[in-house]
Amino acid sequence: MSLMFRQLFDPTSSTYTYLLGCARTRKSVLIDPVFEQARRDAALIEELGLTLLYTLDTHVHADHVTGAWLLKQRMGSQIALGAATKAINADRLLSPGEHIQFGDYYVEARATPGHTNDSLTYVLGDESMAFTGDTLLIRGCGRTDFQQGSGHALYNSIWTQIFTLPDTCLLYPGHDYRGLTVTSVAEEKRFNPRLREGISERDFVGYMDNLNLPHPKQMDIAVPANLKCGKPDNESTPKGADWAPLHLTFAGISEIVPSWVEEHSGEAVILDVREPDEFTGPLGHIAGAKLLPLNELAKRTVELSKDRPIVTVCRSGARSAQATVLLRQAGFSKVANLAGGMLRWHAEGYPAEGGKT
Ligand code: FE
Repeated sequence: MSLMFRQLFDPTSSTYTYLLGCARTRKSVLIDPVFEQARRDAALIEELGLTLLYTLDTHVHADHVTGAWLLKQRMGSQIALGAATKAINADRLLSPGEHIQFGDYYVEARATPGHTNDSLTYVLGDESMAFTGDTLLIRGCGRTDFQQGSGHALYNSIWTQIFTLPDTCLLYPGHDYRGLTVTSVAEEKRFNPRLREGISERDFVGYMDNLNLPHPKQMDIAVPANLKCGKPDNESTPKGADWAPLHLTFAGISEIVPSWVEEHSGEAVILDVREPDEFTGPLGHIAGAKLLPLNELAKRTVELSKDRPIVTVCRSGARSAQATVLLRQAGFSKVANLAGGMLRWHAEGYPAEGGKT
């Protein structure tokens, strides 16, 4: 029995997304996904061989749109968040104390209102980890001046629901703006400048009432979108690419499988980025491929048309992955890497020209 855990970051909103998986059953949950990162998250979950049961939002966010609806379309996951959100399009509205099971593990949804009235903290069953959303941040806490926020409620939530966890319990926040990733109950009780031991509720509320923070930029877009669990108004799934069934790797590379290239020969330019001696060497090359070695690619992109899709090829798929990066930088949008390169092409039995048979 072991827990799989990944902490992911969205640099635009400084949001952390957390993947928790059961290594035995391959079942997983994803806490606070970000809409723009849904492809990345889906690629990671697929590469790790996990099934996504639930996306879990800690609250109705004001600074980013949740990836919950988009991931449901891609991965069939269920959308769960606090009942107090009154969100539409959710599959499960969680009440305080509910457990969300994933294989051998579960998280408990604890009501921690204050930053918003619907905020939840997800606590791992053995109380070794908790995901606090914006209720408790590292050496800080979420603001309480909108979305039915309340300094009194926040103080009580933290002291009765979070600081009652074991001192060693690791706390993972919804955001961090300084590069910190994790803290613990003991650490925050001792060093949180707003909430450490000895600071009274009245001190805290006085502090929170005088923060005078600017209005969050994304709020007018994010809150209405999140009340619909991130379902876009036009109801269409944004397409990464419509010219072929591309797979996005976690490294951010669009890949295509050999069978598509074989079945759609002529639809895309096959760009072989190996050296000339490899092109005519033992592995040969795909019929019709254009040779343009990787080290010359950047200065020779003028030879390529932006109208036709390009599939890049090399021996194993590594240099050609870099070629897709260079091409995208040069303004080519329809670009994909042949997954596994010529080695996989041969392994799957497709024909090549110019090689030794
Ligand atoms: Fe928030």
